[in-house]
Amino acid sequence: MVFSTIRNLKGELVGYAVNLRDNTEMYRKATTDRLTRINNKMHFEELADYEIKRSQRTGSCLSLILCDIDHFKKINDTYGHLCGDFALKEITSDIKLMLRTTDIFARVGGEEFAVLLPSAIEDAAYSVAEKIRRAIEKKTFIHGGNEFKVTMSFGISEFKPGISKERSLEDLFKLADKRLYYSKNHGRNRITSKED
Ligand code: GH3
Ligand code: MG
Ligand code: MG
Repeated sequence: MVFSTIRNLKGELVGYAVNLRDNTEMYRKATTDRLTRINNKMHFEELADYEIKRSQRTGSCLSLILCDIDHFKKINDTYGHLCGDFALKEITSDIKLMLRTTDIFARVGGEEFAVLLPSAIEDAAYSVAEKIRRAIEKKTFIHGGNEFKVTMSFGISEFKPGISKERSLEDLFKLADKRLYYSKNHGRNRITSKED
């Protein structure tokens, strides 16, 4: 919040003004990733914690998708960092179009994204991930005179209040990350949900 002082003609302090627009802007900056303009990791964790609490209260499940661009370092090395940035922005807007407004989407690492799907069982999250995987695989990125293709790997975990072993956001991240790692080690451009 930004305060400024209000003075009368004699220069005496008569009050304070609060600039709410600056406040909104500060909030946006604190919660948003600069490059992709989606939620940053910190904000994702806040929103996801809230969803987990809600899910515990209502008994509904939720799922987490973690996805990571395959061999992204090679894209940067071959076509340059700006092409890499372009791909990150394109991928973000493509994924956004495939999600519901109630889904929580964030950039949680350099080339890693998370989607939390409230009320979704693992199979539903799998369908969403498959839609994303196919769309990215199909796409040709064109930037700065370069044409290139990109694929992504996925790991999914599910939270079922009172049933699944996973009880916290941390547990969900750990399991999804383990499964993402499995996808990476088994050819990439694939999704891992239940234990393979
Ligand atoms: P893997 O398939 O195992 O995920 O391989 P990888 O090359 O994608 O993974 P690695 O972790 O080796 O490299 C990630 C790369 O992502 C390296 C880093 O330069 C790049 N990266 C991270 N953040 C950004 C960014 O904001 N812009 C660009 N252009 N590149 C980024
Ligand atoms: Mg990667
Ligand atoms: Mg990564």
